[in-house]
Amino acid sequence: SSDRVFNFAAGPATLPENVLRKAQSELYNWRGSGMSVMEMSHRGKEFLSIIQKAESDLRTLLGISSEYSVLFLQGGATTQFAAVPLNICKNDDAVDYVVTGSWSDKAFKEAQKYCKPNVIWSGKSEKYTKVPSFDDLKQNPEARFLHICANETIHGVEFKNYPTPNNQSGILVADMSSNFCSKPVDVSKFGLIYAGAQKNVGPSGVTVVIVRNDLIGNAQSSTPVMLDYKIHAENNSLYNTPPCYGIYMCGLVFEDLLEQGGLVEVEKKNKKKAELLYNTIDESNGFFRCPVEKSVRSLMNVPFTLEKSELEGEFIKEAGKENMVQLKGHRSVGGMRASIYNAMPLAGVEKLVAFMKDFQAKHA
Ligand code: PMP
Repeated sequence: SSDRVFNFAAGPATLPENVLRKAQSELYNWRGSGMSVMEMSHRGKEFLSIIQKAESDLRTLLGISSEYSVLFLQGGATTQFAAVPLNICKNDDAVDYVVTGSWSDKAFKEAQKYCKPNVIWSGKSEKYTKVPSFDDLKQNPEARFLHICANETIHGVEFKNYPTPNNQSGILVADMSSNFCSKPVDVSKFGLIYAGAQKNVGPSGVTVVIVRNDLIGNAQSSTPVMLDYKIHAENNSLYNTPPCYGIYMCGLVFEDLLEQGGLVEVEKKNKKKAELLYNTIDESNGFFRCPVEKSVRSLMNVPFTLEKSELEGEFIKEAGKENMVQLKGHRSVGGMRASIYNAMPLAGVEKLVAFMKDFQAKHA
């Protein structure tokens, strides 16, 4: 509605308007319970119904089989950078990392404390604009797992399909923080998927981990109890007090995604939005530029620069006057970035591209 901005932030990010309104209507008194979700015992029947429905809707959305556990945790994806190696390798295990941007680089660096990770491909020398061809990956057959970041939020580089791990255990691990639930994913290809909620599926404070059951239960002995998947799986994410309100919000988003027709429909909408924006950039005769190789451009995070970089400040300021906010690129890369997650309506992208064309006409 007209009192809201179009928020292109990378995360926390825009949430579906109908979800916010539903949360508002239930805030004071959740479905006749006489309490808000924030006030409920996490062990009471009301909250149990909320977390169970959230899990079951997520399982439906992504087609997650009973071979996998779904955990709702805290600490962000950053905590998973440590939890993943602590849970699924010994501290002298070799592990392969593909580094396509800042987030996979951070994951690799954290893993150095808990195993013997090796970067088998890095896009750094090409400023993180590519995903490697899978045939060129020199995977270590002894590696315990292969780790990728499915969508690099800062650089706008997204895997469109996934490498097959040819390590002994055949485990592929993916950080899906910034494209989680943006399209269908064959979960059975992965040993483990993790994602912070605050881009596509809810507020910050919830981290979703989808982990194959056979990978649970062998954590390194020094693993803190809060990072041990076994503890959380055995307790249905209720070992300690979970981020109840955040899980409730994620549940509302999952419900909304199912009502939209599931992830096949969601992906169609995301493709349409991304195409509109990338076409505007590509058809601007170099006035706008996206450095990312076309075949791996992210449907979620669209980084772009201005040929006349001195106009960037004005671009962001003028866009702000038209209620389009958070378009500044990440401090590490500069330029602009439009994050167009599931909840960004087509109208927001249409308004942005109209603004971009106007801006170009004024300044070309
Ligand atoms: N991985 C990716 C791909 C991200 O985009 C982010 C957050 N921007 C993180 C990890 C870190 O997530 P958190 O802040 O939830 O720890």
